[in-house]
Amino acid sequence: MVLADLGRKITSALRSLSNATIINEEVLNAMLKEVCAALLEADVNIKLVKQLRENVKSAIDLEEMASGLNKRRMIQHAVFKELVKLVDPGVKAWTPTKGKNNVIMFVGLQGSGKTTTCSKLAYYYQRKGWKTCLICADTFRAGAFDQLKQNATKARIPFYGSYTEMDPVVIAAEGVEKFKAENFEIIIVDTSGRHKQEDSLFEEMLQVSNAVQPDNIVYVMDASIGQACESQAKAFKDKVDVASVIVTKLDGHAKGGGALSAVAATRSPIIFIGTGEHIDDFEPFKTQPFISKLLGMGDIEGLIDRVNELKLDDNEELIDKLKHGQFTLRDMYEQFQNIMKMGPFGQIMGMIPGFGTDFMSKGNEQESMARLKKLMTIMDSMNDQELDSKDGAKLFSKQPNRIQRVARGSGVATRDVQELLTQYTKFAQMVKKMGGIKGLFKGWMDSVTSSQSSVFVFSGGMAGLQSMMRQFQQGAAGNMKGMMGFNNM
Ligand code: GDP
Ligand code: MG
Repeated sequence: MVLADLGRKITSALRSLSNATIINEEVLNAMLKEVCAALLEADVNIKLVKQLRENVKSAIDLEEMASGLNKRRMIQHAVFKELVKLVDPGVKAWTPTKGKNNVIMFVGLQGSGKTTTCSKLAYYYQRKGWKTCLICADTFRAGAFDQLKQNATKARIPFYGSYTEMDPVVIAAEGVEKFKAENFEIIIVDTSGRHKQEDSLFEEMLQVSNAVQPDNIVYVMDASIGQACESQAKAFKDKVDVASVIVTKLDGHAKGGGALSAVAATRSPIIFIGTGEHIDDFEPFKTQPFISKLLGMGDIEGLIDRVNELKLDDNEELIDKLKHGQFTLRDMYEQFQNIMKMGPFGQIMGMIPGFGTDFMSKGNEQESMARLKKLMTIMDSMNDQELDSKDGAKLFSKQPNRIQRVARGSGVATRDVQELLTQYTKFAQMVKKMGGIKGLFKGWMDSVTSSQSSVFVFSGGMAGLQSMMRQFQQGAAGNMKGMMGFNNM
């Protein structure tokens, strides 16, 4: 069962409380039965599920509780708390230090997702402004270096590896030395895996570890083995000094609940989770936001982080220009960069109360991002005069040979350039109307944060959601979505 299903089932069980006219023992038991059935179906260990049921029951004293609304909230809160406990390893995870070399070594079985996850982690830090690089110390698997090289090149992350050197220890040591000398902050070492836990793998792991002296060893665990994660995580922890765990493949048909609770039970701090093959399918793992999101209650903290990362406050210059009625093609380019920096739209939507994680299909998402990238490629072929003109569209319509030049330069049809200019005109109107892209985000954030206090009242989340949707429809954000191809939202 996929995680989204688990979330839906628990949410529906909790909602049954709101539908009941009175809350008594019977209603409580029926709800708990539903929650536990959903957890068992997601492969959570039966002992942990039993414990959850007992804890909720002992936290609730139906006779002492006064009003119905209060009862419902307290019960929902107790269930929420126990769900958090289930996936909470109770250990603070290692975090890198800015301005210093942080060497992170990856270990795990072959196929668990190490190489993919190395790239995801590197991309994550790079996007946050850390000086990041990758080293391929896997000489066991044919094509390992090519795989890492391809990922790194795509994401523009510096990398190190060798086609000729056969000793992973040598490559790892050379790479780390090189990148340390160049003051890289996040140095990620990918290692080889084996099909099962073999002595030769552990031997190699120890040698590489001794050679590079990692600040953090990340153990990568494939969620599809469910509850078996517990014994595997334990085995690795016994051999090397595993400081953090990343659980991969929590998309698809993974028995996600089983994997997460099993790893947490070994008191291993889970730092990220992988939710797909794409470099963006990666999320920091924090227990409370994770459960909130699972139950469709949003991830306010995550959303605020994302929006803050955009540093919209630095955008005074743009606001000033807008006041004077100016919005250039270059401004639009920069706003697109902001949108791309926020990461996949679907992930962002999943952080908003009331939306599930599977709100938008991946196909659409990728299409929209590809479309945005194409628009940026076209603008890459424009010159400064065109980008900075007060009315870029007019400049092009007056001198149509500019359109041909840009089309040739970016390898698209002239029709595509014309379309971009039409969209630019629409976008400029919309941004002016909203008082800058910040106004757009601010309205969005206000509607989201205002529902924070009533996170446990599902209708509260819905009100926030509706106001955001209104904002989307009224404000020109509707245009933005249409323009980016989110027509089905
Ligand atoms: P390694 O042998 O440990 O380096 O594993 P790889 O990084 O080569 O990954 C093995 C396979 O798992 C590849 O096909 C990846 O695309 C896939 N994979 C890795 N992480 C995820 C994930 O989070 N979700 C899904 N669906 N596939 C993943
Ligand atoms: Mg690999």
